[in-house]
Amino acid sequence: TSVINKIAAGEVIERPASVVKELVENSLDAGSTRIDVTVEKGGAELIRVTDNGHGVSASQLHLAVASHATSKIQDADDLFRVATLGFRGEALASIAEVSRLVIRSRPADAEAAAELEIVGGRHEPIRPIGAPQGTMVEVRQLFFNTPVRHKFLRTTQTEMGHLTEAVTRLALAHPQVHFTITHGGRQTHDLTPTSNLAERVAMLFGEDLATGLIEVNAEDDDLQLRGYVANPTHSRGNNRMQYLFLNGRFIRDRSLQHALGEAYRGLLLTGRYPIGFLHLTMSPAAVDVNVHPTKLEVRFAEGGRIYSHLLGSLRTKFLSTDL
Ligand code: ADP
Ligand code: MG
Repeated sequence: TSVINKIAAGEVIERPASVVKELVENSLDAGSTRIDVTVEKGGAELIRVTDNGHGVSASQLHLAVASHATSKIQDADDLFRVATLGFRGEALASIAEVSRLVIRSRPADAEAAAELEIVGGRHEPIRPIGAPQGTMVEVRQLFFNTPVRHKFLRTTQTEMGHLTEAVTRLALAHPQVHFTITHGGRQTHDLTPTSNLAERVAMLFGEDLATGLIEVNAEDDDLQLRGYVANPTHSRGNNRMQYLFLNGRFIRDRSLQHALGEAYRGLLLTGRYPIGFLHLTMSPAAVDVNVHPTKLEVRFAEGGRIYSHLLGSLRTKFLSTDL
């Protein structure tokens, strides 16, 4: 079973950034308002995510890192109403399989925290320890027991780029949460909480980009589009700044990216990349998020209607804005 577990782990855990994504998503699911990410050597040596969320009780710790154990889904029907970021219950188990993992947690009503260490999938006894409310997960020596995967780790800088991108996506989806990233003892990000997405964009990409943002807010029945696009006439960014969120989750969707590009192309401006920070909200029943293990790609029941809504809303906005 250990081989099977390692293969399963490989599907979700590709590199340090995947670990960070899964851990931070768990912190968000736990209602945290502050999440600190500490990294050594691009995450290959250490990834530590500390949160102030509701925690896991000592009696539930083993279960939290067991395969396919999730506290977030009660029955099969829940799969179609997924509100939490996690629901498969395999992230922690997968990470524990290919690293030295420590989880230390303390719910608000507990006297002390409990700590569980797992080395390459083997559980050590749980021990009590002092810690503030919340959860800390520490992942050391990622892929130490899967040499092939370890070989695919890129330079510290490259891995840090992916890792920062993973946090960026989550930080854009949750501007009200305080995030920090510290790499090699130096804090690289301090994203203070804000109720305003444009302010979070400014923290991440600079005031320059944020000043030219155009607010979008368009509703069509049960479909809501909210967020910002960069002013096409003076946007200075790159073509990777297309952040699309569906019901609070970052998604990659070629068709919707195309719609964003079309809205810009309609203005006949050359050399301008479409830049957007857009949140789509719709009934969870109208979308299947369980298509891909990383949940990056989704399947819409009415893709055409969503495409038209996005393109139409942006066109209308550009026409009514003094660009
Ligand atoms: P999933 O998120 O799909 O449920 P995970 O393997 O990511 O699966 O996590 C397993 C379980 O561990 C979660 O359902 C949750 O109960 C618990 N857990 C993990 N991380 C945290 C955290 N930071 N705070 C509170 N509970 C957590
Ligand atoms: Mg999870």
